[in-house]
Amino acid sequence: MKEKSGLYIHVPFCKSKCVYCGFYSTVNHREIEKFLSALSEEIDLRKEESAGKTIRTVYFGGGTPSLLPPSQLQYILGGIHRHYDIDPDAEITIEANPEQLALDYCEELKTLGFNRISIGIQSFHDEILQFLGRKHTAKEALQAVENAHKAGFDNISIDLIYGVNERDNTLWLKELETAFVMPIRHFSAYALTVEENSLLYRRIRQHKTVEPDEDMASVQYAILSEAVAKSRFAQYEVSNFAVNGWESRHNSAYWDRTPYLGLGPAAHSFDGAHRSWNAPTLSDYFAQIEQRKPFHERETLTDTDRYNEYLLLRLRTRAGIDLREMEALFGLERTDGLLRHFETDVDTRHYEHTPDRLRLTSEGLWFADGIAGDAFEIEEKSF
Ligand code: SF4
Repeated sequence: MKEKSGLYIHVPFCKSKCVYCGFYSTVNHREIEKFLSALSEEIDLRKEESAGKTIRTVYFGGGTPSLLPPSQLQYILGGIHRHYDIDPDAEITIEANPEQLALDYCEELKTLGFNRISIGIQSFHDEILQFLGRKHTAKEALQAVENAHKAGFDNISIDLIYGVNERDNTLWLKELETAFVMPIRHFSAYALTVEENSLLYRRIRQHKTVEPDEDMASVQYAILSEAVAKSRFAQYEVSNFAVNGWESRHNSAYWDRTPYLGLGPAAHSFDGAHRSWNAPTLSDYFAQIEQRKPFHERETLTDTDRYNEYLLLRLRTRAGIDLREMEALFGLERTDGLLRHFETDVDTRHYEHTPDRLRLTSEGLWFADGIAGDAFEIEEKSF
C-alpha cells in the first residue's frame, strides 16, 4: 500500500486585512494571474516529493481561496490531478469567507470536486465582526452556511473566535447555540490572540484599543467546553470540535505527523524528517520558483525536535499520547520519564492516565502548550 500524504495550497489574497490576522496575505490582487502561473510551476517542480504517495487530503487555505473564481480554482485542481496521485476518496477542503458564498458559487465548488468547506464566520454579531475587521455581516454568515448546505455540502465547518472584549459570556453562549443548530458537522473555535504583525498589535501599542482579557478567554473556553459536552459535537483538539466521524482528516494528519506538501507563498511542508518553508512573500516566492528552488528554508529535525513536536501535537489532541506508540518511537526510558514528570509536576485535574494513554482533560487542554513546553527536552548544543 502506498504511503499517505496531504497537500496544502496557500492562496495569499484577501479582500482586506482582519485586525487579528498574522497569516501572510495581500489585498493587492493584481498578481493573481502571476501567482497562478508560479503555483502551476511549483506543482510540477515538486511532484517528485510525492512520488509513491497517495494524497488523502487536499486543503486550499489562505488568505481567502474563495476570492478565486471557479475557473481559477479549476486550473489549480487540474494541475494537482495531473501531477499527483489523489485518492478518489480524498477530503478536499476549501476555506471560504461568507460574503463570497452565493448559492451558485457553492454549487460550482461542489462540481469542481470540493467536498468540505470551512467558512470563516467568527461571530454572528455585526458589532463584533466590525471590531474584528471582517467584511461580512451576521446575516451573510447565516446565509453562507445555508447556501453551502443547499449546494450539497454535507461536510461544513465554521470558524468562531472567542475572548473578544466586546462580547460578554452570555453573548458567547448564544453564538454557540446559534452554531449548534446549523447544518454543520465541525467547528473550530479560537481564542483571540495578538499576533505581532497584526493590526490589533499595532492598535494596542498605539493605545487605540486594549489587549484581549485573558481571564475572559479562559472563562469563555470553559463555557465552550460545557456547551459542547451537552451538544452533538465532541472536542478532539484544543480548538477543534466535530460530530463523531466528521473530524478534519487534513488537520488530524498534521497531528499524526503524516507527511504533507505545502505549495504557494509562506506554505510549509513536512516529509517525516525535515520541515521546509516556501518564501514568505509573493515577490520572494516568484523569485524562488523562477530559480526552480523547491524550498526557501529547510530544517532537519533532530531526535529532540521530533520528541518535542510529538509531545506538543499529541497533547493538544483529546486522544493524547498512545503510550505503546511513544515507547516504540522514543523508548521506554523517555516514556517513563514523561509519566514521572506528569505525576510530580502536573495538576491532576489537567490530565488522565490509563495503562495505554496519557491525555489532557478538557480543562487541561486550555493549558496544553504550557504543559507540553514544561515537558520538552532541551537539546545540548555544541558551540
Ligand atoms: S483572517 Fe483570513 S480573511 Fe482575514 S486577513 Fe487573515 S487570511 Fe484574510
